[in-house]
Amino acid sequence: MQTITTVSEMQAFAESLRAQGKKIGLVPTMGALHDGHLSLIKLAAQKADVVIVSVFVNPTQFGPSEDFNKYPRDLARDVELCGKTGAQVVFAPSSEEMYPKGYSTYVNEEHVAKPLEGASRPTHFRGVTTVVAKLFNIIRPAFAVFGQKDAQQVAVIMKMTADLNMPVEIVVAPTIREQGGLAMSSRNRYLSTSQREESLAISQALQYAKGMVERGERRVDRLVAEVTHMLGQKRRVRIIYASIVDRHSMEPAREVVPGQSLLAIAAWVDEVRLIDNVVL
Ligand code: AMP
Repeated sequence: MQTITTVSEMQAFAESLRAQGKKIGLVPTMGALHDGHLSLIKLAAQKADVVIVSVFVNPTQFGPSEDFNKYPRDLARDVELCGKTGAQVVFAPSSEEMYPKGYSTYVNEEHVAKPLEGASRPTHFRGVTTVVAKLFNIIRPAFAVFGQKDAQQVAVIMKMTADLNMPVEIVVAPTIREQGGLAMSSRNRYLSTSQREESLAISQALQYAKGMVERGERRVDRLVAEVTHMLGQKRRVRIIYASIVDRHSMEPAREVVPGQSLLAIAAWVDEVRLIDNVVL
C-alpha cells in the first residue's frame, strides 16, 4: 500500500502506470470508510490493474454552516481498509495542496445540479464537480466508481464528463445498506440509538413506494403523499424533500416511468442530515 499526499507525486506515479499500460480505476471518497465505500473499491479492483482511492474531505463542497470541521477523519484506518480491499494507492492530499493560496477556478454544471441537493445546498455540487475534475486531471483514470447512494452526484458527474469530453468511464455501484435498510453513510455514526431507529423510516418509505409502483401505481402525487405520511409519523424526522425525478436529468417526473424515475429523499433526523433514493 502506498499513500501519496502531493499532486506532483500523484501525477508522476499515475503517468508511470499508464506508460506501463496499466488500467487505472479511481474511487473518490471523503474517507471514514464503511462497507459502502469498500464495495466501490472491490468493484474497481475487478476492472482495473491498479485501484487508486482518493481520501479528501473536500472543503469546497461544504456550506458555511455544514459539518466540514467535525466530519470524521481517520486516515490510518482508511489506508489499512483500502489495502485489505484491493486498492494499491491512497491519494490523500491536504486542502492546501488541492486549493493553494489564490486558487480561483471552479467547474459548474448548471442544470442537473440545480434541484434537490442543489436547492438546499447551493454551493455543494460546484465543490463536487471541481474536485472530481481535478482528481480526473491529476490521475487520468480509465474509469471512476461512484455510489448510487448519491444519485444526483452520479447524474451531475456523468453530465460533466459528457459536456467537457472527459475521457473517463463513470461506473455506478449499488447502495449498500445496514441491517434494517438504512443506507450506509459516514454520517450515520452521528446517530443515537433512537435516531437510528427513526431513520429506518426513510428506506422503508422508499421500499413501500417501490412496491406501490410494482403494483401499478404511476401517480407521482399519490406516491409522494404516501412517503410524506410515513415519514410524518416519526417525531425526529423532518423531510427536506421527497421528489420523483428523471434519474438522469433530475427534472420532476409527471408520472412514474419504471426504471427511469427516481424517488429521492433528504431528511433531517434531529440535526443529522440523511439522503437516500430508489429507482422506481
Ligand atoms: P463520500 O465519502 O460520502 O464522499 O462517498 C464516496 C463514494 O462512496 C461516493 O461515490 C458515494 O456515493 C459512495 N457511497 C457512500 N455511501 C455508500 C453506500 N451506502 N453504498 C454505496 N456507495 C456509497
